[in-house]
Amino acid sequence: MKALVFSRSPTRYAATRTLSVVSSRFNASVSPLDFTTNFELPNRNLPYQQCKVLLSGICGSDISMLDSSSSRYFEDFTSFPFVPGHEIVALAPNDDGTKRRVVIEPGLSCIVREISPLCDYCSVGATDKCINTISGSLNSGTQTGYCHSTGGGWSENFIAHPSQIHDLPESISNEAALMIEPLACAMHGVLRAKPKADSEVAVIGAGTVGQMTLAALFTLAPEAKVSALARYSNQAELASSFGASILRSNDELRRTARRKSKGIMVANRVMGGFDTTFDCVGTNETLSHALEITRPGGTVILSGLPSPMRIDLTPLWHKQISIVGTYAYGSEIYEDKTIRTFELAIQRANSLGLERFVSTIYPLEDFEEAINHARNSGRRGATKIAFDPASKVSHTPRKAS
Ligand SMILES: [Zn+2]
Ligand SMILES: [Zn+2]
Repeated sequence: MKALVFSRSPTRYAATRTLSVVSSRFNASVSPLDFTTNFELPNRNLPYQQCKVLLSGICGSDISMLDSSSSRYFEDFTSFPFVPGHEIVALAPNDDGTKRRVVIEPGLSCIVREISPLCDYCSVGATDKCINTISGSLNSGTQTGYCHSTGGGWSENFIAHPSQIHDLPESISNEAALMIEPLACAMHGVLRAKPKADSEVAVIGAGTVGQMTLAALFTLAPEAKVSALARYSNQAELASSFGASILRSNDELRRTARRKSKGIMVANRVMGGFDTTFDCVGTNETLSHALEITRPGGTVILSGLPSPMRIDLTPLWHKQISIVGTYAYGSEIYEDKTIRTFELAIQRANSLGLERFVSTIYPLEDFEEAINHARNSGRRGATKIAFDPASKVSHTPRKAS
């Protein structure tokens, strides 16, 4: 079957890293990613099920991995070669031979790995904190899309454990369902931050992570007052649909932070600032900016995979700011009930117009073009780029009315 396969190659890693510094184009000739038509999934018995991919997204973390610009931290939690793709809408088999539409929760925690007893985190539903992602009945891998045993979304089929499979209601389109994984990530971040009613919140970045954070704030913390930094006009338009005040530059966001908190400016630093700032980009520049605009005693939420960075933490120390990491999804306590983050995201999907965020869908064969599009999505007026292994040509999906 058709698949894009990622192999470890130190030579290619070095070449990709060098090229990604000098060019914003993905270069397939040195990339560790190869297109093949004769990929075979490793054999798996029940309860694992073979599912058929309908759509699989390209995440910012996939781009960092392909560009070799991300931290090498995860290499030891990954098994090579593997098929990338952790945002997956699929068809799962029923007992009677029919199939149903599902969205995949990609985390490969204790239950998925058939580990018993469960680790202390999984036993209370905190699968995002699982410590067993290199053991059990699967090869190493934190998620489907980083694990040799499961395959991933950038192919025709992959293998899933029943606990990873969430049924989709008829009312959620494939395109909207593709955004459920990034929405669940964002909801987990918002529920970790727990912004109080009337608190002032800033969101830096308006790509997929930023937009889904705005969506999560809109639906889970509607009384928070949200300011969003969006560099591109299409991003600004999408962000404003969630009721955020839109700022277009770091300077504008600084001035807003000062005005809202009745603070003062000391050079570029705001003494005062936002109660909570979400850094949805994770670079040296954005995290430094987040520390500038967050109030003394406030919180910075680090959403999305950060780049390796060197940063001056003096403002964190001086303003006694907390930086909180947020990774993936698990179980949440929301409105006094425990719920899987994915189920909460599925429940809210229809109220958020998620289809709007899927910009272009490519066949696997056109992976070079797709990855270049995803890499430059903000500049090119796009948000989410995805693969449909069954499609023959790239296309823009039908937008929500
Ligand atoms: Zn992702
Ligand atoms: Zn675990």
